Amino acid sequence: AAKGDRKNSLRFYESELGRESQHRLTLEGDLRHALAEGQFELHYQPVISLSSGKAVSLEALIRWRHPERGLVPPDEFIPLAEENGLIIPIGEWVLRRGLLDLASLRRHPVLQDMTVAVNVSSRQLVEGDLLATVSQALQQSHLSGEALQLELTERLFVDELRYTRQLLARLENMGISLVIDDFGTGYSALGYLRRMKVDTLKVDRDFVRDISEDEDDALLTRAIISLAHDLEIEVVAEGVETEAQLDFLRNCGCERVQGYYFARPMPLEQVERFLLEALENA
Ligand code: C2E
Ligand code: MG
Ligand code: MG
Ligand code: MG
Repeated sequence: AAKGDRKNSLRFYESELGRESQHRLTLEGDLRHALAEGQFELHYQPVISLSSGKAVSLEALIRWRHPERGLVPPDEFIPLAEENGLIIPIGEWVLRRGLLDLASLRRHPVLQDMTVAVNVSSRQLVEGDLLATVSQALQQSHLSGEALQLELTERLFVDELRYTRQLLARLENMGISLVIDDFGTGYSALGYLRRMKVDTLKVDRDFVRDISEDEDDALLTRAIISLAHDLEIEVVAEGVETEAQLDFLRNCGCERVQGYYFARPMPLEQVERFLLEALENA
């Protein structure tokens, strides 16, 4: 019976694989059309400054409005787009849309200092002409570099390749802030923090989640924040969901927070209302 079972499970496995690769192909085809058809949307999640209690920035988070599957989250298509290179045109679209949306928000005098944070995949730096894309998007929206933060993953900094170092220095010279996203999740090399131009470090949600219950996570988060401050790097904590987490982070001197406790990512019209109402009630 054991042998038969194994055979069956192998067949099952193969058909699962077949279905999986079929699904991938369909997804890839759909993804190619999505850009042309205008099926992508940006939602915006406010980042709150703990000193003022106000939103200082919005993180742009992509979603795919799929005709049959509904609203698809980025984790279900960004990795594929990174693999097949579509991330480059998608990333260009995100930068353009994000900056145009910010320009439209800044029409409100009270929102004139608002900034936008855009996630950038390493392939966009390596193969895309990020400098040209960013410059064009800024020009098109009549904004200067100070309006923009780029969220990059740790890997990119750790490698310390000469061309990334130069590219990041150029972006920095345009007034753009560089943020290390998901800090603490992958690599342990820290030397780059001193050598690369980093303004902000974003403590990953994985640490934040358990800071009020898990002593190790609490210790690590406190240590990360204190290390960042010694290097004059500001800290954003992502994934803040409870008051206890917020109290802990405030106590550690964390500058900015982001999470469902304050606001979920929202479409532009909704985040506009959210920001204006928050300022009225301040
Ligand atoms: P990320 O850049 O680390 O973004 C933070 C993620 O955490 C977002 O998920 C956000 O919705 C979620 N989040 C924020 N606060 C909370 C909270 O309090 N609790 C929980 N449980 N989650 C929270 P989302 O929007 O699904 O994005 C996932 C990832 O997809 C992003 O992680 C980013 O790596 C990637 N991504 C999103 N948009 C883009 C894009 O335009 N370009 C690229 N290259 N990647 C993107
Ligand atoms: Mg991010
Ligand atoms: Mg993150
Ligand atoms: Mg994350």
